[in-house]
Amino acid sequence: MRVKKHKFPGVYVFIDEDGSEKIATKNLVPGQKVYGERLIKAEGEEYRIWNPSRSKLGAAILNGLKNFPIRPGSTVLYLGVASGTTASHVSDIVGWEGKVFGVEFSPRVLRELVPIVEERRNIVPILGDATKPEGYRALVPKVDVIFEDVAQPTQAKILIDNARVYLKSGGYGMISVKSRSIDVTKEPEQVFNEVEKELSEYFEVIERLSLEPYEKDHALFVVRKP
Ligand code: SAM
Repeated sequence: MRVKKHKFPGVYVFIDEDGSEKIATKNLVPGQKVYGERLIKAEGEEYRIWNPSRSKLGAAILNGLKNFPIRPGSTVLYLGVASGTTASHVSDIVGWEGKVFGVEFSPRVLRELVPIVEERRNIVPILGDATKPEGYRALVPKVDVIFEDVAQPTQAKILIDNARVYLKSGGYGMISVKSRSIDVTKEPEQVFNEVEKELSEYFEVIERLSLEPYEKDHALFVVRKP
């Protein structure tokens, strides 16, 4: 068998010809490539190989992430959706029963997502500023998970402010933190400790994981809203 299930529902492991294992998701829109990723066919299904060097969530899964709250049927608010590299894998995982609301403040970047979502209709692209969550209230319902990858100095506050408005009680947040976006002069560990403290004032911090060697000075946090 060339493809087997990963422990996280909706994620798969592909065994390549050289025996190496790669993560993948089942392509919700067969034939569609989003970022030049490799498509493979196995047992009548098409899978998209998930490149950890292009996606922090992919890097986290390969680095042994323990808690992955995004699953088939989940509703996800994705802050910093960009042109949809990672969001497309999230879209594969949540499937047609789920939804991904993708917020991006660069019109140029968001424009690249438009042709993708014409077919991949479980992603709703939203031109908006994640620091102003009220701005997309008419478009976004209460969600199961908020995923944030905006590389901004106020990343933790952005997650908390969005969680207050959109996250269900008991829902989860996932945030990729780039220490150099917050303070270039401090050691990454110090920055991550400060972010963890800030997050723990609102959330229960469940997991913190380094994204090295895929992303230098990055950590991913998984948090839960009590
Ligand atoms: N998550 C994407 C992926 O893996 O496919 C990559 C995201 S990239 C590191 C960060 C994105 O966040 C950029 O496209 C940037 O324009 C966007 N961004 C930064 N600040 C933002 C804000 N306040 N509101 C919305 N988007 C923002």
